[in-house]
Amino acid sequence: MNRTAKRLASEAEQWAKDLFRLFVPPCCPVCGRVLEEGERFLCTACRWEMPLTGWWKTQENPMQERLSDFFPVCRASAFFYYQKGSGYDRLIHRFKYEGKASLSRAFGEWFGEELRRSEYYADVDLIVPVPLHPYRFLKRGYNQAEIFAFGLGKKLKAKVCRGNLVRKTHNPTQTRRGEKERWENVDGIFAVRNPDRFRNRHLLLVDDVITTGATLVSCAETLLSRVENCRISAVTLAVSSRHVFGKG
Ligand SMILES: [Zn+2]
Repeated sequence: MNRTAKRLASEAEQWAKDLFRLFVPPCCPVCGRVLEEGERFLCTACRWEMPLTGWWKTQENPMQERLSDFFPVCRASAFFYYQKGSGYDRLIHRFKYEGKASLSRAFGEWFGEELRRSEYYADVDLIVPVPLHPYRFLKRGYNQAEIFAFGLGKKLKAKVCRGNLVRKTHNPTQTRRGEKERWENVDGIFAVRNPDRFRNRHLLLVDDVITTGATLVSCAETLLSRVENCRISAVTLAVSSRHVFGKG
């Protein structure tokens, strides 16, 4: 394509984007206000007031303590507090059910930048998103934890490894389950295809939300029983403050 054709194509693309914005203006997913020029994904006020945990800046935090009760976790942190009705809970709904891939990716990059600045995640070798069962993946068309993981990986300069930790059972969703049921629901449902790929590595498990911690614990138990000499850390986009962390 010559230079003039490229310029025309780029102008046409911008024109199409402007037209799209005019008829379908992007809105802040938290408060619903139309985003202004320069605002990306969240309006300035909601970004400013985002209930971030700040846990990635500390070695010990409630998520680290929670997971440490079950396995020797290296590092653990969630990005923000999930509280029903806060407005920020709508973000998770969008990630999970509305296919907002660009939103998951953007939050991955935001959190990834924070993790990169923290001294505690510098030695992560591989990022391992919590897998969906193939049936659910086909039905939904994407794995939100995976898209989030790619955003993290970009900033942490670590590879995302898909398909080696797998979900072998198509278990019912954890949503609307009690604490005891959540643990039973994910017990023994994960498997590792090729343990050598994870050997001697520091793995960063990634999920969208931590509630009881049952899913992450089940993944970690599988990895630790199958892989020789691996270390495990875990991060999630949100933490349900209601469930185990005594807030809200
Ligand atoms: Zn807003």
